[in-house]
Amino acid sequence: MNADRPITELLSSGRPLLSVEFFPPKNDEGGEQLLRAAEALKPYNPDFVSITYGAGGTTRERTFRYAKILREQFGWLVMPHLTCVGSSRGELLDIAAEYHADGIRNIMALRGDPPKGEKTFIPYPDGLRHASDLIALLREKFPDICLGAAAYPEKHPEAASMEQDLMHLKSKADAGASFLTTQLFFDNEHYFRFLHACRSREIFLPILPGLLPALSLSQVRRFGPMCGSSLPHALIEQLQIVDDHPRASEAVGITWAYHQIRELLRHGAPGVHLYILNRSAAAITLARSLDRNER
Ligand SMILES: Cc1cc2nc3c(=O)[nH]c(=O)nc-3n(C[C@H](O)[C@H](O)[C@H](O)COP(=O)(O)OP(=O)(O)OC[C@H]3O[C@@H](n4cnc5c(N)ncnc54)[C@H](O)[C@@H]3O)c2cc1C
Repeated sequence: MNADRPITELLSSGRPLLSVEFFPPKNDEGGEQLLRAAEALKPYNPDFVSITYGAGGTTRERTFRYAKILREQFGWLVMPHLTCVGSSRGELLDIAAEYHADGIRNIMALRGDPPKGEKTFIPYPDGLRHASDLIALLREKFPDICLGAAAYPEKHPEAASMEQDLMHLKSKADAGASFLTTQLFFDNEHYFRFLHACRSREIFLPILPGLLPALSLSQVRRFGPMCGSSLPHALIEQLQIVDDHPRASEAVGITWAYHQIRELLRHGAPGVHLYILNRSAAAITLARSLDRNER
């Protein structure tokens, strides 16, 4: 198969991009849900889709399989995620080589979280400690792969301070990251402040804002703290009012994300990355609004 276009090429077009994130399902039922969501999204033609790499490095095979399906069956530009968890340097290079041989030229390079119950990240034997190490390794061995990296507008939960986190982010940029995608946030002020802080520390990479169209009050209460993302009072209040009504809750989440997107694009964000959790409804509505207005 032909080599994919690097996402940086799309980013330099100046047109706001739409990307969506899938996760590799655990079983056949989950697989069908992913395929239904992808089928429903097909007419809205996301600029690229990403597929996550499971905690503990457990989804090497499934991430690869679904990356292949989304790319070949749906014709999408696919960015598989890769983490340092559970693999030695050699194994990480083998995974990247497999993608490269298939024509994939975009990888999201991450450290990954420590296994459940563990507070600190312990590198795998002959493995890597930081995402910047993975970026440097992949950049050296695969200079033609476009490397995404993670950024945290409200600080990574383990970082002692925003200043230190920005310093480490700069090392990812210096190691060869091509662009950044942010952790989810519900208040655009965090993104704008973060963007300013990055630019003033000479991190000039495009920063794609990551948004979660909320599904319910319980979901944001779970995800927010887990991701280190604060929950605006107004969003909580609106979700509380419709708490017993899943469809109304979803509509609140979509409307909230819609207003976030409008403001982000008005202020020059290079597009938006949606954490869709293998569901299509919010992504379709938000993609439609982008279609009408920008894309
Ligand atoms: C867009 C996005 C996609 C994600 N996809 C996945 C996925 O598919 N699978 C998955 O398991 N997880 C995923 N995550 C979660 C991510 O793996 C975790 O947040 C993880 O804890 C950090 O990964 P990182 O790549 O940001 O690590 P790093 O950049 O290595 O940072 C991790 C922590 O270490 C610190 N640090 C970095 N470099 C140094 C250094 N040189 N010295 C000291 N401290 C340092 C940072 O400040 C930070 O606190 C994703 C996150 C985002 C935002």
